[in-house]
Amino acid sequence: MSALITLENVTRVYGSGAAEVRALDGVNLTVNAGEFVAIVGQSGSGKSTLMNILGCLDRPTSGAYHVRGTDVSNLSPDQLAGLRRETFGFVFQRYNLLATASAAENVEIPAIYAGLDRTARQSRALDLLDKLGIGDRGHHKPNELSGGQQQRVAVARALMNDAEIILADEPTGALDSGSSEELLRLLEDMHAAGRTIILITHDQSVAKRAKRVVEIKDGRIVSDSGATTSAEERAPYERVSGENSLWMQFLEAVKMAFRSLHANLFRTSLTLLGVVIGVSAVVAMLAIGEGSQKQVVSSIETMGANLLFVRPGAPGTRMRGNAIATLTVEDAEYLEELDNVIAAVPGRTSRETLRAGEVDYQTTVEGATPDWVVAKNWPMAHGTFYSEEDETRRAAVVVLGATVAESLFGDQASAVGQYLFIGSTPFEVGGVLAAKGATAWGQDMDDIALVPLSTGMMRIFGRNYLNSITIAVEDAKKIGETEAAAEALLLTRHGGVLDFNLRNTASILESVQETQNAFSMLLGSVAAISLIVGGIGVMNIMLVSVSERTREIGVRMATGARHSDIMMQFNTEALVVGGLGGLLGVLIGLGVSIALGASGMSIAITPTPAILAFSSALAIGLIFGFMPARKAARLDPVIALASE
Ligand code: ADP
Ligand code: MG
Repeated sequence: MSALITLENVTRVYGSGAAEVRALDGVNLTVNAGEFVAIVGQSGSGKSTLMNILGCLDRPTSGAYHVRGTDVSNLSPDQLAGLRRETFGFVFQRYNLLATASAAENVEIPAIYAGLDRTARQSRALDLLDKLGIGDRGHHKPNELSGGQQQRVAVARALMNDAEIILADEPTGALDSGSSEELLRLLEDMHAAGRTIILITHDQSVAKRAKRVVEIKDGRIVSDSGATTSAEERAPYERVSGENSLWMQFLEAVKMAFRSLHANLFRTSLTLLGVVIGVSAVVAMLAIGEGSQKQVVSSIETMGANLLFVRPGAPGTRMRGNAIATLTVEDAEYLEELDNVIAAVPGRTSRETLRAGEVDYQTTVEGATPDWVVAKNWPMAHGTFYSEEDETRRAAVVVLGATVAESLFGDQASAVGQYLFIGSTPFEVGGVLAAKGATAWGQDMDDIALVPLSTGMMRIFGRNYLNSITIAVEDAKKIGETEAAAEALLLTRHGGVLDFNLRNTASILESVQETQNAFSMLLGSVAAISLIVGGIGVMNIMLVSVSERTREIGVRMATGARHSDIMMQFNTEALVVGGLGGLLGVLIGLGVSIALGASGMSIAITPTPAILAFSSALAIGLIFGFMPARKAARLDPVIALASE
């Protein structure tokens, strides 16, 4: 058998040295279950200090405090929170309601931490408000209620978890006499219903309503009218609690997060903006990077993955126009004999002016053997490519790229069979190549005219050397071996001098991809930096939020929130900012990408960057929200409650 609560020689000392204040100085007090005790004393006598210790919001400097025989000093912070949640209901002088939540939602808060499920919680809250005569006010915000109504909401909140002990610190202090009277009657009703009431007041007329009056002065009890009930064990109190899942609590925290973000809409939008810019930048930049890479790769692939290019001049030296005379038609003939080679096409190019009637057009004229069309795997749009016979006869035929045909003859089809002049030689147009479009570098592949190599050498280029040999291989997988063989062959033919260079499309592709990757990395890191800046904005706003809502945190702790609950509350808020910013950012980023795509830029929209950016925004919310959340969770409940 034990008393409900006992204080043994409890002291509470604030400060130290000259600034030391003994707010409580050797207090001994026993309260039994079912009592209605008023603790009276003048302002500064230590009443609130006593209540904070009774309510497990604060710990004594020395002495012992037992609740139902349990020494409170042995309890962990979470166990203390549990005690606050299940055993005590607080009513404060200043009501301490959350301004952004409705009356009913304020009442529900202790039950959230007790794990009661949503529907049970809501119906119980409305029930309580009903019993307290303000059932019709459940959906109003605190600022839409009178002081007396707000205090009733606070009482309902204290009753929510069916607390055994109601601790009321000057509950009538801010009420007019009518509302005071109503509140006192409420407390009397609660006492009659079996609750233990500890009422703190400096008002003797209020104190008279209690069954027992304890007077405190300068931190000491100076009079006590004595216990009114015995320490007999009463039937165990029924607890209101449930097995609410973490998920439910998280959803509750998300709801609260939206509330508080909504309460500061302008500030929230600015913070969001930071994240949104970062995320949309990541999404758009990566779409651009990916898009240009795809385009480059595909246009290189249209060149054919099975080609080897031999050019005159040692590797690394710049080709100086026609000056290097190292590759010969004979070289090409030998190369064609190699294994795995379909064709080795000798080529010679130069810029020439083509004339048809009155129209002049300057283009690249390439002299090449008829194998060219095989090696390049380039289909014809109209007419035919010149033949081996044309090559041997040195026939004056020309095959035009689509652009050239259109420029000279208006349209491609009518070009076939017509004549044009290159220099003073008339050529007959034998055919028009199918259009291929631009290369990765923006060069028009269709801006070309082809003539038999023999004709070109004789009529156009003048001398007998080449500026390219294009080798088409049969099996692209063995292109490396063929390349080595070609190099060895050419080296022998050139007396061991490396006066040519050999490249294959795969290696070109590789180097292009390398530059593209570096480009993407650069874009990505610029975007990542802006995300981090956004994250710092989140942290900043969360820190402001914590210091603005210190009292709210105090109230939550008083109603039984654990450290982890407070952590979760603020972490969730940061997560919501991150998630919301991420979502908006992804949408805007995709919108920008689509718009850029529509305006002709090559864009590749893939899910990866969006997922990446969204999860980074979430991660940033978590990381940058952690510090503010921890700061909130570590607040001392007493100090938090006392803050303005
Ligand atoms: P009451 O509620 O009876 O007005 P309090 O318990 O609030 O009195 O305060 C008792 C004494 O302790 C007062 O002298 C007050 O100035 C002092 N006190 C209360 N809280 C603090 C604190 N956090 N730091 C320093 N002194 C405090
Ligand atoms: Mg006080």
